[in-house]
This record gives sequence, C-alpha cells and structure tokens, in this order.
Amino acid sequence: MDAVTSRQSCSFCGEPGRDGGEMAGGLGAFICGSCLDHFAGVFAELRRTGREDPPPWHSMSDADLLGKLPLIARTGAQVDRFLVDWVRLVRSRGLSWAQVGGALGISRQAAWERFARQVEAPSGDDGLHAVEAGSA
Ligand SMILES: [Zn+2]
Repeated sequence: MDAVTSRQSCSFCGEPGRDGGEMAGGLGAFICGSCLDHFAGVFAELRRTGREDPPPWHSMSDADLLGKLPLIARTGAQVDRFLVDWVRLVRSRGLSWAQVGGALGISRQAAWERFARQVEAPSGDDGLHAVEAGSA
C-alpha cells in the first residue's frame, strides 16, 4: 500500500500531496489538512446554526465545473490503485480468487480477470508502489 502522501492527491480538492504535508487517508481516499480544517468548520457551523450552505457546484462557472473533471478522474484512479493494492495484500495472505470475488460480489473468474495481471505483476511493472507480493 502506498501511504506516501507526496504520491497521493487530496480526494476533496485535488491538490497533490507533498513531502511533509498533512494528509489523512483511508480506503483510497485522502484529505489534505486544508480540507480537513475547512470541513471541520463547516460541520461546526452546521451544528451551531442547523443551516447547511448549498453545495459549491451550484455557484461554479462552467469552466470551473470542467476543471474538476480531471481531478475527479485522478481521484478515481487513486481509488483503483488502492483496490489493486488491497487485492494484492489479501492474495499475499493466501486468500483465493473466489474469496476476492465473493467480497466484491463478482465471480472468481471475474475477480481474476479484473485483477490478476496487475496483482501478479512484479512490483513496479504496473506503476504501483505495492506491498510485497506473496506467492499465493
Ligand atoms: Zn484538499
């Protein structure tokens, strides 16, 4: 699993992580310190007033909306890399493709077709910073 924040981007604002920067993560999503502070303020205001501001996209220009598309795609790719890393982890513990498929609600064959090439590739071949791949 790649937990180096300088290789991640904030799933909320799209800012790339940097060395020494604050970033929390989980399940492939990351949040930078600025966004964490922002949302803490939003929640505090909501608790205090009971009023919620309209979503920010309501006031965004078309250009701003289009500018978010690559950031959303980058976040999706980040989550996809995390999923592959996680499948690599469970496979390294000896869990079967049937178990992986069962957890994802797909068949063993579908799980293998989706992940085997990436999971079984030597580290670095898929551009991932992977956990040690086991021989399971
Ligand atoms: Zn952010």
